[in-house]
Amino acid sequence: MSYDKVEVPEDGEPITIADEETGALDVPETPIIPIIHGDGIGTDVGPAAQQVLDAAAEATGRSIAWMRVYAGSSAREKYGENLPEDTVSAIRNHRVAIKGPLTTPVGSGFRSLNVALRQKLDLYANVRPTYHLDGVPSPVKDPSQMDMVTFRENTEDVYAGIEWEAGTDEVQAVKAFVEDEMGFDGVMHDGPIGIGVKPITEFGTKRLVRQAIDYAIENDRPSVTLVHKGNIMKFTEGAFRDWGYEVADEEKYADVTITEDELWEEYDGERPDDTVVVKDRIADNMLQQLLTRTSDYDVIATMNLNGDYMSDAAGAQIGGLGIAPGGNFGDGLCLAEPVHGSAPKYAGEDKVNPTAMILSGRIMLDYMGWKDAAALVKDAVEETISSGTVTYDLHRQIEGGTKVATSEFADAVVEKIHELA
Ligand code: NAP
Repeated sequence: MSYDKVEVPEDGEPITIADEETGALDVPETPIIPIIHGDGIGTDVGPAAQQVLDAAAEATGRSIAWMRVYAGSSAREKYGENLPEDTVSAIRNHRVAIKGPLTTPVGSGFRSLNVALRQKLDLYANVRPTYHLDGVPSPVKDPSQMDMVTFRENTEDVYAGIEWEAGTDEVQAVKAFVEDEMGFDGVMHDGPIGIGVKPITEFGTKRLVRQAIDYAIENDRPSVTLVHKGNIMKFTEGAFRDWGYEVADEEKYADVTITEDELWEEYDGERPDDTVVVKDRIADNMLQQLLTRTSDYDVIATMNLNGDYMSDAAGAQIGGLGIAPGGNFGDGLCLAEPVHGSAPKYAGEDKVNPTAMILSGRIMLDYMGWKDAAALVKDAVEETISSGTVTYDLHRQIEGGTKVATSEFADAVVEKIHELA
C-alpha cells in the first residue's frame, strides 16, 4: 500500500479481517488508524479526541499509530481537491477510521463529501447511539429513559443524490416522462421545478435491518422498531417496513424475533428471554413517542432522512449535538464520526464540546474489540462532566460548574482516564 496524499505513520500495522465469514477483525497492539480532523470545528474536536483516545489506548497497554488523511478544506489547501482517492483507499485498507465534520455548501457547489465517503466505501449503516450521561443537562424531565441505538440507512433514499435542477433539460425530460409515460399528469405545478428520486431497494433495506437485529441480539436489546412513512409513501417507505419484517422471518432470525401482535396474543405482553420484538411505527408518531414513551424504544432501523431527523431530535433529549456520537458501518469497515456538523462560526475558537467526537472514538474502540479502553473513555467523559467541568454548550444550561475550552476539557478527560485506569 503506497500513498501520495496521506501522512503514513512510522510505526504501526494495519487492522485486517481475521474471518471473512463473520467479519471479525485482527487488531494489532499498535493499529494504524486513519483520521480526518474535518472542517470548521473539526480542527478543535479532532485533536481533542485523538488525545483522549491515545490516553485510553495507553492506559490499557496499547497505542494507536494515527494516519492523518485529508478531506474538505484541508484537502483543498494541501492537494487542490475535495476528497483525494488516497483518503478513500486508506480508510478502506485500514478498516477502522474516525472523522470530524465536513462542510457541505447549501443549494450550489460540490455535493456532500460525507455522503460521497459513505457511498464510495459502501458504509451502509449510520449507527447513532443515544444515551444519557450523568450530569449532562437536558430539556426533558428524565433523560435517563433514553437509551436507544438508531440504524440509519446510508446509501439510498433522497440522500442517494438523484435529483435535477430547475431550468435544466434533464428536469424537463423527467417531468415529461412522469406526466406522459407514468400517468401523473396535473400533479406537478407549471413553472420552474426541481425533481428528486427516492430509491429504496430490498437489498439496501434488508442488509440494514439485519445489522440492526444482529445488534439487538448481541447486545441483549428487547426490541427493534422499523420507522417509516409507509402510510403515504407506500412503495418506498411501506416497502421498507415489509422487507424489514421479511428479515425478521428469515431462518436465522425466525426463532429469535416475535412481532408486537405475537407479544400480546401469545405472551400477554411479557417478552420471553432471548427474544427480540420487531415492531414498526410511522415516523411522525415516532417523533412524539420519543418524548412521551421514551423507554419503549431500544434499537431503531430506518431510512436515511427519517434517521437524520430522528437522531438529531433524540440527541437534543440527552443534551444536544455536542454530546451525540455516531459511526458508519459497512461489511468489515467502520468510520466513526460525530452527529454534529462543522459549526463554522465556532471554528478554531477552542470553544465547542469535543464529547461527540470523543464518544465516536469510543464506538470505534468497541468495534476494534478494545472494550476496556472504550469503557474507560465513556466513564472518564461522564465523570468529567458530572464534576461540573464542561464546555460552553452545557455550561449555559447548568447552575455553577466550570466553563472550559475544548482543549481543557480534553485535558480533564485524560486526567480522569489516568485516575480511573
Ligand atoms: P452544526 O454544525 O451541527 O451546528 C449547529 C449548532 O449545533 C451549532 O451552532 C451549535 O449550537 C451546536 N453544535 C454543533 N456542534 C457542537 C459542538 N461540538 N459543541 C457544542 N455545540 C455544538 O449544524 P449546521 O450549522 O447545520 O451545519 C454546518 C455545516 O456542517 C454544514 O455545512 C453541514 O452540511 C455540515 N454538516 C456536516 C456533518 C458531517 O460531517 N457528518 C453533519 C451535519 C452537518 P449553538 O450555536 O446553539 O451553541
